[in-house]
Amino acid sequence: MTAVVIDGNAIAEQLRKSIADELQVLRLSEVRPGLATVLIGESFDAQAYERHVKRLAESLDYRYVCERLPEDIELADVIATLGKLNADPRITGILVLHPLPPHIPEAEMNSAVDPLKDIEAVHPLNTGLLAQGRPRFLPSTPASCFYLLDHYADANGGGHESFYSGRTLVVVGRSNSVGKPAQMLGLQRNATVIACHSRTKPLEDYTRQADILIVAAGVRGIVDGAMVKEGVVAVDVGIHAVKDEQTGKTRMVGDLDFDSVAAKAEAITPVPGGVGPTTDVWLGGNALMAAAIAHQVEPRFGLFR
Ligand code: NAP
Repeated sequence: MTAVVIDGNAIAEQLRKSIADELQVLRLSEVRPGLATVLIGESFDAQAYERHVKRLAESLDYRYVCERLPEDIELADVIATLGKLNADPRITGILVLHPLPPHIPEAEMNSAVDPLKDIEAVHPLNTGLLAQGRPRFLPSTPASCFYLLDHYADANGGGHESFYSGRTLVVVGRSNSVGKPAQMLGLQRNATVIACHSRTKPLEDYTRQADILIVAAGVRGIVDGAMVKEGVVAVDVGIHAVKDEQTGKTRMVGDLDFDSVAAKAEAITPVPGGVGPTTDVWLGGNALMAAAIAHQVEPRFGLFR
């Protein structure tokens, strides 16, 4: 079987265009999204992501501000900063960057962001709405997985409304930001969902049941071709930088062993160029929806088709 390689860059570009179109409409109501990031400490990954979000905001002509806080800041001061952003009407979406310093509890951060400005959908109110099948915002990474899957289903017959029904979706990973919301989104689409995690043994007994597979374990190459069945549609969330022994250059790989899974799959997302590009753009879409909500403008914008 020759797998269709799902082109995340092309799909992300379409998503970006629909956000830009919606932005034009919102401008007529004088709505301009304002995005704020909160960067605590000097983490390389968090700083790199901050630059990324800043570029995204600039490319969409959003207002943008980054609150840079010292590594040793007290929790109460971080919460006060979030309170200030929550109260600022020019800021319509807030993102606390990860990783956090060890003394700053993630759960406290999630609850301290105004749920109406919570564009990463981590506030308990927003995770609860998602669990009940009536989400306000969707966390960008799992939303991106389903945006790609829906797109594939629409482009390859059947359509996304019937694609999941009667199919087994296996999600490897149960983090609050990726695995669990991916399970919820699968249930919402009528898939039969199997949730795997680090205590699932043996993993291949479950991954082999997958008609649709989402792998978000953060373990390079954890699923290979021997662990999947013929015709699987596989989505790779993992991102790992590896050094090519021959060229000495760094390249990105995922949680799937791409070549062996692609040899059996009906469709597969690559790394890079799969889940990542739509994830980035999705955040911009959430910021747009948050701005519409803040201005009490009905968001016409449906991120899912
Ligand atoms: P995480 O918080 O570390 O969660 C990893 C999950 O995988 C946990 O639930 C863990 O199980 C499970 N797991 C770990 N080892 C496993 C194993 N051997 N077998 C089965 N399950 C295992 O990571 P995350 O934030 O969900 O992110 C996952 C990956 O996606 C990372 O590589 C990250 O860099 C990447 N990522 C990519 C994007 C993107 O835009 N493409 C965005 C976000 C994240 P337990 O719960 O039992 O520990």
